Amino acid sequence: MPQHDAVEVITAKRDRGELSDSQIDWVIDAYTRGAVDDAQMSALAMAILLNGMNRREISRWTDAMIASGERMDFSTLSRPTADKHSTGGVGDKITLPLAPLVAACGVAVPQLSGRGLGHTGGTLDKLESIPGWRAALSNDEMFSQLESVGAVICAAGDGLAPADKKLYALRDVTATVEAIPLIASSIMSKKIAEGTGSLVLDVKVGTGAFMKDVDRARELATTMVELGTDAGVRTVALLTDMSTPLGRTAGNAIEVAESVEVLAGGGPADVVELTLALAREMLAGAGVTDVDPADKLADGSAMDVWRAMVRAQDGDPDAPMREAREKHVVNAPSTGVLTRLDAMAVGMAAWRLGAGRAKAGDAVQDGAGVVWHARPGDKVAEGEPLFTLLTDEPERFERALASLEGGYDVAADDSAYDAAPLVIDRIG
Ligand code: URA
Repeated sequence: MPQHDAVEVITAKRDRGELSDSQIDWVIDAYTRGAVDDAQMSALAMAILLNGMNRREISRWTDAMIASGERMDFSTLSRPTADKHSTGGVGDKITLPLAPLVAACGVAVPQLSGRGLGHTGGTLDKLESIPGWRAALSNDEMFSQLESVGAVICAAGDGLAPADKKLYALRDVTATVEAIPLIASSIMSKKIAEGTGSLVLDVKVGTGAFMKDVDRARELATTMVELGTDAGVRTVALLTDMSTPLGRTAGNAIEVAESVEVLAGGGPADVVELTLALAREMLAGAGVTDVDPADKLADGSAMDVWRAMVRAQDGDPDAPMREAREKHVVNAPSTGVLTRLDAMAVGMAAWRLGAGRAKAGDAVQDGAGVVWHARPGDKVAEGEPLFTLLTDEPERFERALASLEGGYDVAADDSAYDAAPLVIDRIG
């Protein structure tokens, strides 16, 4: 590999130059090996945040991060594969009903998921609230579960894109998370290395999302779709609303329970709508066009896959879910219509109640979270419950209540209620 040095690469990007392919290959490899140190990589990440990268640079950067680790291959499976990635939101439990639903339609779902950090929840944290459930699987276990059950949700192993693991942790503490080239290459390096044949991206937009405005979300989505397509992964993105939290719950065990309601043919309308929209995209990407996923929710076959999937990872789908020890109810302040429910306020409240973690490695509470008893557009009555806050530690209520303050509006009628669409745009 041709030799470069870190100062030369940082200088090129600081001065708004383009990085060459060999500079990119070298810097990612050298950083992974420890030959480029954190201070140098921080400077480069900040230069990229400020000055950007073009399509060739982002694509090469992504390839170099993939090459830093192992690449999985599911091409010998007896069915096609499809995966979904969400950029993260509040009450976003969609992976839980979606993976078994798509598997019930004949497409295998290898879903490598993460734990939550900050106000957005993590899929693994939610599933770990099921007694016995195990997130860590070997590659062989993953492969055989995909063949036998059709769906796996598990933790990404250390071997997958190790350059990203190191770089993401660094970005987190150097105010360089928000760079679109770095977000896109981070997400897509893991998804491409995971070996899925097709991919649907759920790019969240709004107060509870990474991307607060639709133009930046569209730019991120377009960049990721291009990266996937260039790598031979059929990729589409939906831009979806995250100003209002999804469903009626944000937490861990309570989100599992809501997902099971969806698998049983019920559940909140928005969760069902988004699950079906993403399922249809995943099936189309995998070339399956003759199955309606709504039928698989209605006939119980998605629920059968869910139960098999939980059991295959040592979980008990029939075990009672853990409940929080303490609850606090917030009543509606007046009679009228709930016209706004802010995703960030709800996410922060759930996090402060113990559903999320302040730093990597912290424990989360299985039973903690927020239940909202009305969604925007619903009528509410003064003195009736609007929120139930759940935690094992009652001293957490005060700060959770503070984050809900100003996070919702109740008006006399629905004239101030703006029913925004859940799916805003499709790219790909
Ligand atoms: N999720 C990722 O995996 N990487 C990012 O950079 C942002 C969100």
